[in-house]
Amino acid sequence: MSISLEKQIRFRKTFAIISHPDAGKTTLTEKLLLFGGAIHLAGNVKARKTQRYATSDWMELERQRGISITSSAMQFNYQGFVINILDTPGHQDFSEDTYRTLTAADSAVMLIDAAKGVETQTIKLFEVCRRRGIPIFTFINKMDREGKHPIDLMDEVEKVLGIEAYAMNWPIGGGADFKGIYDRQTGQVECFTDGLRKGHDDTRQTGHIDDPGIKEWIGEDLLQRLREEIELLDMAGNVFDQERVDRGEVTPVFFGSALNNFGVPNFLDSFLKLAPAPAPRQSNLGVLEPASQQFVGFVFKIQANMNAMHRDRIAFIRICSGRYERGMNVIHNRTHRKMRLAQPQQLFAQERTILDEAYAGDIIGVHDSGVLRIGDVLAEKDGIEFEAMPFFSPENFARVSIANALKRKQFIKGIQELQEEGAIHVFRDLNIGVEAPVIGVVGQLQFEVLEYRLRDEYGVEVQINNLPYEMVQWIPKDEEKIRILKESSMSMVVLDQDENYAVLLLDKWKANWLSERYGVEFYPQPLRE
Ligand code: GDP
Repeated sequence: MSISLEKQIRFRKTFAIISHPDAGKTTLTEKLLLFGGAIHLAGNVKARKTQRYATSDWMELERQRGISITSSAMQFNYQGFVINILDTPGHQDFSEDTYRTLTAADSAVMLIDAAKGVETQTIKLFEVCRRRGIPIFTFINKMDREGKHPIDLMDEVEKVLGIEAYAMNWPIGGGADFKGIYDRQTGQVECFTDGLRKGHDDTRQTGHIDDPGIKEWIGEDLLQRLREEIELLDMAGNVFDQERVDRGEVTPVFFGSALNNFGVPNFLDSFLKLAPAPAPRQSNLGVLEPASQQFVGFVFKIQANMNAMHRDRIAFIRICSGRYERGMNVIHNRTHRKMRLAQPQQLFAQERTILDEAYAGDIIGVHDSGVLRIGDVLAEKDGIEFEAMPFFSPENFARVSIANALKRKQFIKGIQELQEEGAIHVFRDLNIGVEAPVIGVVGQLQFEVLEYRLRDEYGVEVQINNLPYEMVQWIPKDEEKIRILKESSMSMVVLDQDENYAVLLLDKWKANWLSERYGVEFYPQPLRE
């Protein structure tokens, strides 16, 4: 008997791990993947720390830089659950892809380094999650190293991020003195032992806080301190409230050490109880229930030329409702055309496996011949639309020009395709044509990626000259104002890809000054008719 659609979906969890580089995301992801037997990975695997070095040229750059540039999804089964982890690159210079991937998640796990606390990239990613109102779980990592006091860390989460923190477990000691964690729900103490680095740990040593063995393990002083801290948390700390967790107002906090696989099972068990199954989504036709019979999904990421062997483009689709079946027909909402989802696939390293079925919450990658765009909906019936993808404004700008004019055609094609992928924003300088567009990106590293990909995939050498601007704002088509902005040394007027006027600005203060001085209205997004 087949498992009902409703049940399939109820046991799915789709989440993203958000963190600052080096907090331990790769380590935690690997530990989590080890809990599942068969590991399926959709998209490219992090080339760097896993042994499965990717073979394509495209990933060569990632390998050289020791970074992961693209986001992808990984799936594993654990205790009857199907878990999808969306990968968000953790490099300093992350891109819009990272942000967009969060639109495909039902919850987020925020990973914090106990010694460093809440860092800049965590704050940015947290903000995107908060705007979506998804539940956010916190894992405070590296407890085996000297770090900040747990109370200070909780405080920092609350103050810096403005979310209430509720400690699910509590660390006993820290650094060289780290003895384990106390589970506030069960009263059990889990003893920390180093060297469980190999994977799934079935030999967790636990005991009740009142057990004599535990006292012996922890020592009298630390036990006393633990009791006091627990009392303090119980009396003065926040109250656990599942509904507020669901709304993203309270974050359940866990302590552990990913590297030692310590606290990871404890975290995962709670997470699976508390994290939401695929959630209903608001559409133009009302709320779309994940267990409704109709297949509906949206494209949140497009990746071209993932594999040098197959010059192709893959669109990653988050299924929002219903069931996908191999070879099914769907309607592409933007063109109203029929499309056959013939070979959706999951990728395991570079070996692709064809997927026979998938359910709401899952991510599938489909071949795309250039039809799909980010935000497009694929559904069994026509007419469904979701809220537009959030817009993330570029913060770095450069003029990109071709070294060899004979390659003009390939250059324009490359720029066009990378723009469709959502990797870059393309602007046109009013005085110069398409040969030397101004490119805007969220993270500086995207320029390197751009240069590399244009060379590797389109055979075009380019020159990239950074421009000093830090922000772009859109302006109404007012000739007088445009003239003033053109003449100002603080701004540069450009046209976006839809021929809307925009202006590149040096910084926020200069933007405010210009706006006030000349009465120009700036808009953070393209103006729609
Ligand atoms: P990412 O950049 O967030 O993906 O971080 P990684 O998973 O690559 O981890 C960064 C570094 O921190 C690596 O050297 C890890 O071995 C180390 N690390 C991760 N988790 C722990 C931990 O629990 N304890 C200690 N001591 N080191 C850790």
